[in-house]
Amino acid sequence: MKVILFGAPGAGKGTVADQIALNYQFKKISTGDLIRQEIKNETELGKRVKAITGRGELVDDLTVIAIVKNFLSRSENASRGYIFDGFPRTLLQAKELTTINPQEREISFLLKVDKDLIIKRLTSRLTCISCNAIYNQLTNPPRSGQKCDLCGGKLIKREDDNEQTICKRIEVYLKETAPVIDYYRQSGKLIEIDASGTVDDVFQQIAGHLNDQPQD
Ligand code: AMP
Repeated sequence: MKVILFGAPGAGKGTVADQIALNYQFKKISTGDLIRQEIKNETELGKRVKAITGRGELVDDLTVIAIVKNFLSRSENASRGYIFDGFPRTLLQAKELTTINPQEREISFLLKVDKDLIIKRLTSRLTCISCNAIYNQLTNPPRSGQKCDLCGGKLIKREDDNEQTICKRIEVYLKETAPVIDYYRQSGKLIEIDASGTVDDVFQQIAGHLNDQPQD
């Protein structure tokens, strides 16, 4: 099964994708995490895309598709399924996704949250630079204060989690990704979820649908 999470930045895709990966033994593919890794490692690709992500714009399709394929080629096959966080974001990426393990069914969820809550969530988000775990200073603070509860890594505020870039990312989402969501909606593969509640609440809603799916 290929599970796809849609939603504006700050809708909680990354956090709930972690929960799904853990509970269903799905492999998580977060293009944002993979891109940030390239930037952190100062690879050629990372240097090329750093300014683009810093402005809240999308990295070009061919680069993102290559990143996804490269990740899949160097990781073991996921026997249970895949959870995609932040991919696809354009129609070309959506088309490409259908060619990845084409025998597996796609099911997608749209996490719906309003703009005020998005800004509140993102401006208080903390991310572990080592394992990418996500915290929130207001609603899910790390138990140990400044360090990641899972790996002890340093927690940082993402550079693109400032109000100006957040607004740009929402604008890009509405322009570039809304048509992809419409495409999934029209194909009958989209389930809409109220994502304004807690992580557990959102996870339970999604799990309810996943548990109803026939096994691949
Ligand atoms: P995210 O962590 O999903 O919010 O992604 C952070 C940034 O990485 C985005 O603002 C884009 O610049 C870039 N990015 C992540 N995923 C994609 C994608 N599928 N297509 C293009 N750019 C992406």
